[in-house]
Amino acid sequence: MTFRDRIKSTIKVVAAHTLYLMGVLQVWQRIALRQKAVVLMYHRVLTPDERAMTGSHPGIVVDREDFAAQMAMLKERFRVLSIKEFTDRMERKVPFEDASCLITFDDGWRDNYSHALPILRHHGIPAVIFLPVNFIGGGRLFWQELLTHLTLRAVTQARQSPACRERLSRLLATVGLESTLEAAESDLRVTVMEAVRRQKHVPPTVINSTLTGLAEELGVRWEEYQEADGFLDWGQVSTMAQQGVTFGGHGAEHRILTFVPPSEAQEEIQTAKAVLDSRLSVPAQAFSYPNGNWSPEVAKLVEESGYRVAFTTDPGYVSCDDDRFSIRRVNIHDGLMGSRPMFLARIVGLF
Ligand SMILES: [Zn+2]
Repeated sequence: MTFRDRIKSTIKVVAAHTLYLMGVLQVWQRIALRQKAVVLMYHRVLTPDERAMTGSHPGIVVDREDFAAQMAMLKERFRVLSIKEFTDRMERKVPFEDASCLITFDDGWRDNYSHALPILRHHGIPAVIFLPVNFIGGGRLFWQELLTHLTLRAVTQARQSPACRERLSRLLATVGLESTLEAAESDLRVTVMEAVRRQKHVPPTVINSTLTGLAEELGVRWEEYQEADGFLDWGQVSTMAQQGVTFGGHGAEHRILTFVPPSEAQEEIQTAKAVLDSRLSVPAQAFSYPNGNWSPEVAKLVEESGYRVAFTTDPGYVSCDDDRFSIRRVNIHDGLMGSRPMFLARIVGLF
């Protein structure tokens, strides 16, 4: 974090705490969420030790203690809805009770079971998790985490043995990451994660061949990262389903649906529904667009596949008469949202 960023963060923290102490954020919440719901979007819930090992970008991680504090606050100040209650109101256009809230998780990370579930159960609050079904129980990882781990390993290797440097540089160049070899040691991890994040437009075939090449060159087995960045298995999904968690679709291969031909988008959407419906006792009612990318054409495919609602990553609140297939969410991630004032400031859209 630069000095300038640190000053900005301090100003935000002071502003949020002051407004909270004055009761302004609380009034703001009541006005902003009158007859509206806020849909919160989470991904991963990790301990500090786990965060040091993960290849996930901080933008999808929340500290476990912060998550526990956030759930306590939701329980106290919000009306937390199940996906069924939420969907029924949207379909029937029945206004939400003031300060309604829906808790959602994208991707089905294993930490949702180990860390989020006990906290949700402790408070007796429901949540919905959106699964990219081909990743559940298959021992596979997302390319983003793998590429981050392998790039970090490649940079270390290139520094220790300059003989490999050229080959590693050539491999990294196939996905535009060769400049990470020059990154300063102090912010290497962040630099690599940011660089990986910018590669979303690289075709999956190119990413896969780079991952295979790097793993071979570095003598790494992908399974090594399973513990740090793995997904739920179907046994965990079924246990969670019995304990107040509902599951929805998030594609099969987690393809960005606006980047692929309509036939492939349709396949992703329908496979997720078919697999979830066959695995769970309740048919999947909700869908979340991978990476948040959606279009009216993709939304139509989701609706035609039998889902009742679909969620984007566009920020904002939800009214009962909003379009059911482009529902807005507020992304909750790491950093400044540990305290109640900062969490509430985020929900009311101050930051
Ligand atoms: Zn996702």
